[in-house]
Amino acid sequence: MTAPILRRLADLRARTAEWKRAGEVIGVVPTMGALHAGHLSLVEAACAACDRVIVTIFVNPRQFNNPEDLASYPRTEHEDAQKLAAHAVDAIYVPDPEEIYPPGFATTVSVEGLTDVMEGAFRPGHFDGVATVCAKLFLQTAADRAFFGEKDFQQLKVVRRMAADLDIPVEIVGRPTVREASGLALSSRNLRLSPDGRERAARLHAVMQEVAAELAGGKPLDGLVATAHERLREAGFAEIEYLELRAEEDLAPLVRPDRPARLFAAAWMDGVRLIDNIPVPAS
Ligand code: AMP
Repeated sequence: MTAPILRRLADLRARTAEWKRAGEVIGVVPTMGALHAGHLSLVEAACAACDRVIVTIFVNPRQFNNPEDLASYPRTEHEDAQKLAAHAVDAIYVPDPEEIYPPGFATTVSVEGLTDVMEGAFRPGHFDGVATVCAKLFLQTAADRAFFGEKDFQQLKVVRRMAADLDIPVEIVGRPTVREASGLALSSRNLRLSPDGRERAARLHAVMQEVAAELAGGKPLDGLVATAHERLREAGFAEIEYLELRAEEDLAPLVRPDRPARLFAAAWMDGVRLIDNIPVPAS
């Protein structure tokens, strides 16, 4: 059955109040729409772990540092609702912009430290936008659990820190990245790749896996990163913003995976900025 689309906070609260009274566990899956199988895996996890599930769709202008990216971000609400109809979703919250940013809105939630590197360094203001909108969505939905993808691993860490620091009583659940058969991580931005670019973009994951395997075998990081840059350029990536080994716990830079570690990358293909990360076995 198709879940109702709610655009007003008052309508959302009327429902969540009833669910809370009945002692039901509420799950939320925050998204920016253009839903794909990665989002739907979060929805499935939420449905399995919660009595009620809210999917939010809000293209949050405050987390875009690039106006062109915001303007060209895909908006497919009708198709999104159809995709969600196959799942036991109780409400689709597509807030009117003034429900998130009312006139005079003046508060920013800013997480320090974790946001200094990678996405935070290359996208100024991005994580302030993310942390602010997630804090609002957690408070608006009154969710007990919120589901996020490891595809945006740094975001997952930032949101978890923010919720803990602000005593928002929500458990942040991370779920693995869903990929195409080629290895390309699903992303709403993949819609903007040419068919050829989409094929070449899959090299990002392949090259990252090669680096991870060599690191696990004890090879030094520096040489591996230099070779990986070359291979990515050969594959047609115009710019590689970062390719870095970092600790899962605190995102500190590592030279070898001597504690739980991930390889993180951001690179441009066809004018589209792609990010990915994979776990690296300990060496
Ligand atoms: P977005 O709509 O891009 O803001 O993403 C909404 C949520 O879906 C975030 O928690 C993302 O990490 C997650 N997500 C995006 N792509 C994937 C994927 N390929 N696999 C799993 N989760 C994903």
